[in-house]
Amino acid sequence: MGESVLNGVRTAGAASRAAGFHRVGDELTCDGVPLAAIATAVGTPTYVYSAAFIRQQFTTLSRALAGVPHRLHYSVKANANLAILRLLRDLGAGVDIVSGGELHRSLAAGFSGVDVVFSGVGKSDAEMRQALAAGVRLFNVESEGELVRLDAAAAEQGVRAPVALRVNPDVTVDTPHPYTRTGEKGMKFGIPDDRAEAVGLLALGMRHVSLIGLDMHIGSQVSETEPYLLGARRLLELLERLQAAGATELRTLDIGGGLAVSYEDEAPMDVARFAAAVVATVAPTGLDLILEPGRFLVGNAGMLITRVLDRKHSGGKEHIITDAGMNDLLRPSHYNAYHRIEPVVRGRGQTIVADIVGPICESGDFLALDRAIEEVSPGALLGVYGAGAYGFAMASNYNSRPRAAEVLVDGDRFAVARPRETYEDMVRHENLPLDWSSPCASD
Ligand SMILES: *Cc1c(COP(=O)(O)O)cnc(C)c1O
Repeated sequence: MGESVLNGVRTAGAASRAAGFHRVGDELTCDGVPLAAIATAVGTPTYVYSAAFIRQQFTTLSRALAGVPHRLHYSVKANANLAILRLLRDLGAGVDIVSGGELHRSLAAGFSGVDVVFSGVGKSDAEMRQALAAGVRLFNVESEGELVRLDAAAAEQGVRAPVALRVNPDVTVDTPHPYTRTGEKGMKFGIPDDRAEAVGLLALGMRHVSLIGLDMHIGSQVSETEPYLLGARRLLELLERLQAAGATELRTLDIGGGLAVSYEDEAPMDVARFAAAVVATVAPTGLDLILEPGRFLVGNAGMLITRVLDRKHSGGKEHIITDAGMNDLLRPSHYNAYHRIEPVVRGRGQTIVADIVGPICESGDFLALDRAIEEVSPGALLGVYGAGAYGFAMASNYNSRPRAAEVLVDGDRFAVARPRETYEDMVRHENLPLDWSSPCASD
C-alpha cells in the first residue's frame, strides 16, 4: 500500500499518506474530512467509508494478479450499500452474491448479469429463475440436489446454466473464530471432496447445464497463502480428471474470498506473496481466475462513529455506554471480534480500562471488554475502526432501534449514502389492522 495517488484521485490531506482514517492534530479524519464534522451534520451512530481506501485495496490486489487473466468479484454480503457497489463497479469489479436480494441490489447499482457470480449454500427455485433471467456469469453449485434443481429451472427457460462446482477441498484454515471457517470436512458448505467427481460427471450429462468451472471458498479472515494453494491444487487435479472424462468447457477457477485484514496487530494477508503464488499456480493452466474478496476491499475502509451517552462505575468496573450497540455492530458479540476504538478528538485524559457497551438489553451487547482507552466524558465521540465489512450489513432493528446512517467520503467531500432510518421506516411494513385468511373454513 502506501500509494497516495490512485486512478488519478489524490487523497485529501497529506499527499504522502495512505488512504483512510488518520489524525490531523488531535482530530480523527477520514481522508482529511473531520469525523466530528460528519457526526454534527448526520448524527450518531454513523458508518463512514473511505472511497480512496477501497480504490487502494482494489488496485493493489488487481495489480498483484496481473500475471493471470482474472476478475475480482466483490462479495456483496460484506457491505451491500449501493454507493459502495457503484464505486466497485466503476473500478471494474464484478460481484459475488448469495441471494436474490443481492442480485437485485447489484443490478440497481448498475452491474449486469455477466458481472455476477451466484454463490450460496441454499438457493431457492425462485432465486435460480431470477438469476437465469438476469444471465449471470456463473452459478457456484453447492450440492447434487441444487444441480438437479438448476438444470430443471434452466430447462423451463430454455437456456443452459453456466455452472462451477463449489468443492469443499477439506483444507484446515486457522481463522480467528470457528464461525468463519468453511472449507473443512463435515461443514455445510460445498460438495465434499470425495463426491465432487461424481457430481461433475452428473453435470456433464445434463442438457441445461454447462460445467465451466470449479470453485472453493475456504473461510474468512485467512492470512496464510498455503491453504489457498492446497485447495487450488486439489481443484486442478479434479479439473484434469473431469477433462479426461469429457469435460470440454472448463475454463474458470474461482478460489473464493477470505483474505485477511488487520484489526489489531494480527498479520493481514501478504498480498504480494499470495498473488505471486496464485499466479504461479494458475497461469500455466490457461484458466480464467475469479476471486471473491469482501472484507479485504472494505473492512478497514469503514469506521463506526458513536457518541458516549453515560459513564458508570459498577462492581469495580468502568463502563462507557455508547449510542451504538450490538444491533449496529454485531461482530464483537457474535465473533468475539476485536475493533480498535479511540476518541474522535484526542484530549489529554489519562488511560483507563473500561467495558465499552451499548444501550441494548443484553449482557452480550458490547463493543469492547476490558479495553484500555483514554478517559472520555458523556458527549464525546468514539471511532470504532475496521467497521466497513460485516458492520452495517449485519445491523438489525433489535430493541426497535433505527439502523445507523452510512456516509461515503471521497476526497474532501462526504455524502450520505443511506440516511438514518426513522421510526416510521421501522413500522412501515407491518399490517394493522390484520387481514385474516381461513384456509380450513368450510364455507
Ligand atoms: C462471505 C463470502 C466471501 C467473502 O468473504 P470475505 O472474508 O469477506 O472475503 C466470498 N465468497 C463466498 C462464497 C462467501 O460466502
